[in-house]
Amino acid sequence: MLYLLWHQNPDTDAICAPLAWSAYLTDQGIANTPIRLGDINNETRFVLDYANITEPKLQTTLNPGSSLVLLDHNDEAQSIPNRDIYTISWLIDHHALGKCTTNAPLMIRVEPVWCTCTVIHQIFTERNYTPSKQIAILMISAILSDTLFFRSPTTTHADRDAVTALNTIAHIPNLEEYAIKMFDAKSQLDGLSPDQIITTDYKIFSMGTKKIAIWVIETTNPRFALNKKKELLTAMAERKVNDGVDAIFIHIIDILTETNTTLVLGKEEEQAIQAIYGAHTQDHLANLGDKISRKKQLVPACEKYFAR
Ligand code: MN
Ligand code: MN
Repeated sequence: MLYLLWHQNPDTDAICAPLAWSAYLTDQGIANTPIRLGDINNETRFVLDYANITEPKLQTTLNPGSSLVLLDHNDEAQSIPNRDIYTISWLIDHHALGKCTTNAPLMIRVEPVWCTCTVIHQIFTERNYTPSKQIAILMISAILSDTLFFRSPTTTHADRDAVTALNTIAHIPNLEEYAIKMFDAKSQLDGLSPDQIITTDYKIFSMGTKKIAIWVIETTNPRFALNKKKELLTAMAERKVNDGVDAIFIHIIDILTETNTTLVLGKEEEQAIQAIYGAHTQDHLANLGDKISRKKQLVPACEKYFAR
């Protein structure tokens, strides 16, 4: 059996890309099971409801030797625990290559576009494969989510073109309205514990000998997150110890104004924020201006500082 999996604390791309690839493999007669490594967030739940698709099952261990398709991630720190006991058969991604070693040759497709579903759209096009309406909806949603409706810096033409092409199948009447509904769903943090909020988008990166946690809350209403500052700081302190990371950051990204307000836990983080971004911290808060992309701006900047 081929297992399709994506990073922990899955975002919308992380859920939709494997479902799209799974549908394709199934149509080719290749048995496969998509499994998720964590809870899905409210945005993804909205998308799955809209497309009328049930969420994949939660499973974090497999039989040793199982074959994996990695989607939307490659670094082992973000993947299934003990990944080296499995065989990686495929990797489809749009992130920088992190710690990713394999015990056998594999198919790799990693491109500098803004969403794994954009890469998948390109493969589908090359292979003359047309996805179903439901899958087209998922793929569009993933691209709108990863690009923040094309607001993210350096969104590529490929991402826009993929959405245009896929919407001839999906027929979402007003894409901007649809995107805002997705983002509003994601911004609903009420009733969630800090640890559930973490699952909205928490990633650990290996940087040199250090492990850095970068947690992003993309929201149309930063107040939701800022009102929970105290609880979030407590959750950060716990995560820092439990996950054994050297530093932890929460970036609250206002999708509408495209600005980044960062929660700064302690002295180490405060020094780092000053050195990396030249930003001053007050009351555990720092203004990082327009640094809204983890992949393109935050991770590379942190890497320069921590991997020295
Ligand atoms: Mn992702
Ligand atoms: Mn992605």
